Amino acid sequence: MTIELARLSRRFAGFAALDEVNLAIAPGEFVALLGPSGSGKTTLLRILAGLDYPDAGTVTQDGRDLLAVDARARKVGLVFQHYALFRHLTVTENVAFGLRVRPRRVRPSRAEIAARVDKLLRRVQLDGLGDRYPSQLSGGQRQRVALARALAVEPDLLLLDEPFGALDAQVRVALRRWLRHLHEELGLTTVFVTHDQEEALELADRVVVMNRGRIEQVGTPEAIYQQPATPFVCEFIGKANRLTLRRRNGALYAGPLRLDADPWPAPQEGAALAYVRPEHLALSATALEDGWPARLRHVYLSGSIAHLELEVEALGQVLEAEMGGEEAQRRGLHPGMTLTVQPRALTAFPLDPASGEPEAAARRT
Ligand code: ATP
Repeated sequence: MTIELARLSRRFAGFAALDEVNLAIAPGEFVALLGPSGSGKTTLLRILAGLDYPDAGTVTQDGRDLLAVDARARKVGLVFQHYALFRHLTVTENVAFGLRVRPRRVRPSRAEIAARVDKLLRRVQLDGLGDRYPSQLSGGQRQRVALARALAVEPDLLLLDEPFGALDAQVRVALRRWLRHLHEELGLTTVFVTHDQEEALELADRVVVMNRGRIEQVGTPEAIYQQPATPFVCEFIGKANRLTLRRRNGALYAGPLRLDADPWPAPQEGAALAYVRPEHLALSATALEDGWPARLRHVYLSGSIAHLELEVEALGQVLEAEMGGEEAQRRGLHPGMTLTVQPRALTAFPLDPASGEPEAAARRT
């Protein structure tokens, strides 16, 4: 089942929550909508669920107009951040709910419902807990009940809005891995809303990065991380040091450092915005011509990774580098020492001389 959104817009009192969004979701795909608060993720999900309608644009499912289909008639499973389980119903009754309320002619028999619920509870690893009430479950268990309830109606499309947002970090990680396995088993087309980049990158086949009602980039997690398409994606996904590059006499400079690799061919003078990931800053204890001298200000050891704060006078800024904690220890890196920093890879956006805005297309070295 292919879902296609074309030029989808939704306005609230003149404010564009969605602004001409185009997106195709392939059958069986796990898509994450990722973006900061207010970027339009939930609005998009609600339109897919039939809980909201766009002001303009189309949504089709296998070529059929999905917007013409009433929310109740859409084969959609929904899970929200706040469990929304019925407190006065047991786990079994919660999961069976969507089937019980069906019109008589399409309602499965009692025995069929019981068998289906049993199977689902096993699937979400809650067998044996069917008689409990939501208040007798942990947060993670409640979300698995919510998922079982969403799956009970055998949806074509599973929509999840920050389903693990209210859970603590460890449960969250465990549940997202479990969800990924479940998705591989069921192959159900899934749209997952999150503002957590790690969650999106780990879970999804494709990530849709949203910002202010628009899509900044759609791509595999690898592409989003390694080939960010816009300055926003560079800053929102992972960590990146932001630099200003200047072109003088045909050569490209970052501060006093002339870059060997030139990310864009045009003999254009002027400035560019560039991003370097912490892991792409190489550090050397010897003074080198082709690098920036820097003073190591702090070493923050977080588990196996050392985050290094470097003051680079030639750039007038502080850069963050990263390496394995053991390596940092072996090399005897300590605050106060002088190092040479070399950028190994960078993503640059030439700035339009007239507007000062970055060009849409990224260039990479
Ligand atoms: P969050 O992660 O905070 O849920 P989001 O990316 O899901 O954010 P949306 O909930 O889609 O964002 O909201 C997008 C924008 O539209 C926000 O600025 C929000 O305030 C606005 N908005 C959403 N629903 C309504 C509404 N019913 N009335 C007015 N404004 C709305």
